[in-house]
Amino acid sequence: MGMVAKEAAIDLLKNEIPVEEDEPLFLSGDVNTGLVLVDIVNGFCTVGAGNLAPVAPDKQISAMVDESVKLAKMFCEKKWPIYALLDSHHPDVPEPPHPPHCITGTDESKLVPALQWLENEPNVTLRCKDCIDGFLGSIEKDGSNVFVDWVKASEIKAILVVGICTDMCVLDFVCSALSARNRGFLSPLEDVIVYSRGCATFDLPLLIANIKGALPHPQELMHHIGLYMAKGRGAKVVSEISFDTTARET
Ligand SMILES: [Zn+2]
Repeated sequence: MGMVAKEAAIDLLKNEIPVEEDEPLFLSGDVNTGLVLVDIVNGFCTVGAGNLAPVAPDKQISAMVDESVKLAKMFCEKKWPIYALLDSHHPDVPEPPHPPHCITGTDESKLVPALQWLENEPNVTLRCKDCIDGFLGSIEKDGSNVFVDWVKASEIKAILVVGICTDMCVLDFVCSALSARNRGFLSPLEDVIVYSRGCATFDLPLLIANIKGALPHPQELMHHIGLYMAKGRGAKVVSEISFDTTARET
């Protein structure tokens, strides 16, 4: 299929499952909002950083990082809570069907350079996880859940979710958070909001996937499907965010 025909086909599919975006999000500080950064680590975002990193500069991933940095700066300025999930695996524990990636202690499992300063910010909770779903990955040996505790400690009423991949780690986390909310585990959390321009996924076109024996994963379509699934589970999806820029102590 030629490029033009392919783009038309993707548009056709997207039109069959449109993602109706919610109203632009205005963050005023009146609603306690927490920012959740999903796996914005070198192993998934930095060119050439590992088996699951982009092999060439990627517009969708770069834009996701830029948007996340902007949000993180604003949240830190306002001293609002941030929860950063870091994919991080023990070298002897594989995660099928994925090849080895983000081994604990390596650069792959560290925040991308543009976000590394978050490690020293008092309003940031870093959480290493060794599975796709960051909600499950927040469970401690004693059964407590670091994410649930974070929501409760800061009385968070809305979470704003960004990161990678829209249709995998972001989606699984969002789905689990929504189920937990619906079961009453996350009170006072009300809204799970996915920022579409703050999310990205990887690109593995059919032809290359066939050569590698992997599942094909066309970026633009899978990103869209990830948002569609999140919306279907009850998340809000927004593409615009603005802040109350007047000085205010919270
Ligand atoms: Zn992983």
